[in-house]
Amino acid sequence: MKIIDKIIDEFRNRGFKIIIIRDDSIKARLNRLKVKVWLVPDDYFPWWPNPLDMVEELELTDVNALFVVSERPYVISDYIVNNISRARYWFNKELNVRVYSVNIDRLEEDLEDGINIALTNHYREISNVSLMGMACPNCGSPMVTVYSSRYFSRRWGSWANEYIEVCEKCNIISHKLVLNLKS
Ligand SMILES: [Zn+2]
Repeated sequence: MKIIDKIIDEFRNRGFKIIIIRDDSIKARLNRLKVKVWLVPDDYFPWWPNPLDMVEELELTDVNALFVVSERPYVISDYIVNNISRARYWFNKELNVRVYSVNIDRLEEDLEDGINIALTNHYREISNVSLMGMACPNCGSPMVTVYSSRYFSRRWGSWANEYIEVCEKCNIISHKLVLNLKS
């Protein structure tokens, strides 16, 4: 199976709708959360002396999350994040995008973790329920369950129910996974 197909599978598994498929990238959407996955070509290190060229080429104004899939995702993600800062300082370009690193050797696990964090960061954009949750660990009043879903976890090899709970008063957000393990 091609890497891009594995990536598509993983996002579909999490309920995302795939909007665009290219050879080296996809765009997907879950409710109002828009993400892009960039499969960086082997041995390629990006170089954009003008950060606005990067913003345009990676379509960063159009997405809330960029997943960088590579053999060395951290150096490339760092470079992109620095360039996003330069775009802000030099050109006053404000972007609402976060960058997530995915090591190609741990593709499915890293994607799963990255998606978990992106969903947690953007719970307002993906919210699909509003229910009373567990007590807030800080103030003790009930948290609000804002997202609930079910998916097959590659990391745990099991179906999992996931919940995002929020206490807006304390600014606490928790992502909870309940595994359906059979003994
Ligand atoms: Zn609280």
